[in-house]
Amino acid sequence: MLDHTFDDWKSRAAALQFRNQAFINGKFVDAASGKTFQSINPATDAVLADVAECDAEDVDRAVKSARKAFEAGSWSRAEPGHRKAVMLKLADLIRENLEEMALLDSLDMGKLITDAVTVDAPGSAHFFQWYAEAIDKIYDEVAPTGPGDLALVRRVPLGVVGAVTPWNFPLDMATWKSAAALAAGNSVILKPAEQSPLSALRLAELASEAGLPDGVLNVVPGYGATAGKALGLHMDVDCLAFTGSTAIGKVFMQYSGQSNLKQVWPETGGKSPNLVFADCDNLDAAADMAAFGIFFNQGEVCSANSRLYVERSIKDEFVEKLITRAQGMQPGDPLDPSSKMGAIVDKAQTEGIMRFVEEGKKTANLVTGGQQVAVNGKGSFVQPTIFDDVSHDDPLARDEIFGPVLSVIPFDDEADAVRMANDSIYGLAASVWTDNLSRALRVSDGLMAGTVSVNTVDALSAMTPFGGMKQSGFGRDLSLHSLDKYSALKTTWIKYQT
Ligand code: NAD
Ligand code: MN
Repeated sequence: MLDHTFDDWKSRAAALQFRNQAFINGKFVDAASGKTFQSINPATDAVLADVAECDAEDVDRAVKSARKAFEAGSWSRAEPGHRKAVMLKLADLIRENLEEMALLDSLDMGKLITDAVTVDAPGSAHFFQWYAEAIDKIYDEVAPTGPGDLALVRRVPLGVVGAVTPWNFPLDMATWKSAAALAAGNSVILKPAEQSPLSALRLAELASEAGLPDGVLNVVPGYGATAGKALGLHMDVDCLAFTGSTAIGKVFMQYSGQSNLKQVWPETGGKSPNLVFADCDNLDAAADMAAFGIFFNQGEVCSANSRLYVERSIKDEFVEKLITRAQGMQPGDPLDPSSKMGAIVDKAQTEGIMRFVEEGKKTANLVTGGQQVAVNGKGSFVQPTIFDDVSHDDPLARDEIFGPVLSVIPFDDEADAVRMANDSIYGLAASVWTDNLSRALRVSDGLMAGTVSVNTVDALSAMTPFGGMKQSGFGRDLSLHSLDKYSALKTTWIKYQT
């Protein structure tokens, strides 16, 4: 696949068939209303598919089928080894269909096919495999009671889990939620972002092919204000795992309070700081990763390193290095393997990014980029953009832009850098570059972030929890810890005669 040419990818894309109906109770079905919405390719503005537009009625159907499957026990009470085998099979099927899964995300939201096929789609298979392998290796507890008492403390599945996901990593966000929730024995209803529903629908079909019983994984494409809200307010959904904006994360907490007190796990926005100290030996590596940290996936990454704090003595030199790298990452057709950056997910997001850029031109020093561009006369693309000498209280430095826009802020001493880095409503991720071990640890300790990467950016793996502090939300995806979100602790206390 890595040797595919632009023409190879174009012909494969042209031959793709899209799943465009909701997936409920093991079958593809139209929305009850018969309504559809358009799934659009932001790189060409072409309509890819008319997709079933689910609303409350469809969500209710999906919840009923999920509950029925949960109570039937064919998944929730299956042998751990059986659940493991089905999820391993699903991982294999994703690998067998890797090109297709990658193309669905690339076409639907504009990311580079090269990234989708090397990062997103293999990541999805890996995460399913990782959770599958965990299923028959996790033990529960026996409490330290006295003689005559045996207290079992077990994790049991919650029941019906709703997952509402964003468009920036469509397949992987669907995977992070569903792999862990399914591994814990729940039934799942997934509401993918309206900008990018296609890979989730195919994933559900593959899961069914792998042997997941009907009703255990349902996908209800549709808008947030209808389908997402119905899931958030549903009286028979036990848990709602959300990844998206901070504003909507707060709304889901309210839905819970207005309905059945379902558990809500928000993983929300970020404005992650990257701190580069003058005692960092390899400034070229730091510059490579700083550029990657903000321009990867067009900057549409919740943990994007969008604030760069550089020690003043090296600031100009470092910004020069960044400009060179940014200029080498101009957007191009996402299906062209030589492109370095793809399209912005849709017109609204592009307009939002460009508003920040236009305002920023008035308050900060634009050193490269700053233009919206078309590729072959079509689509929504934004150049890799860097603002230097950004004031710490400028919206460029405070608000989540969710695009390829970097704000550079100089600092004079370590305490000042940490203070500015922490002066944010967000706390998702942070990076530190220094070759002084004590400084690396001291600064990492001081940073309020769910993940601090030292001499790299955005460190992430199946083995380590991912999630935030403050208004980046408190849900954690990945690692065995994420299973806690999808299980309840149940005590069974047995008295016996000694
Ligand atoms: P969004 O909050 O607008 O949408 C996310 C999901 O919520 C979508 O499925 C959408 O349909 C749904 N939704 C929207 N309004 C809703 C409503 N009123 N009721 C119910 N559901 C609703 O976010 P977005 O623009 O799609 O995604 C970008 C955001 O996601 C950024 O803020 C980014 O930081 C965040 N994000 C966070 C993480 C993380 O793990 N912390 C990962 C990726 C993205
Ligand atoms: Mn789309």
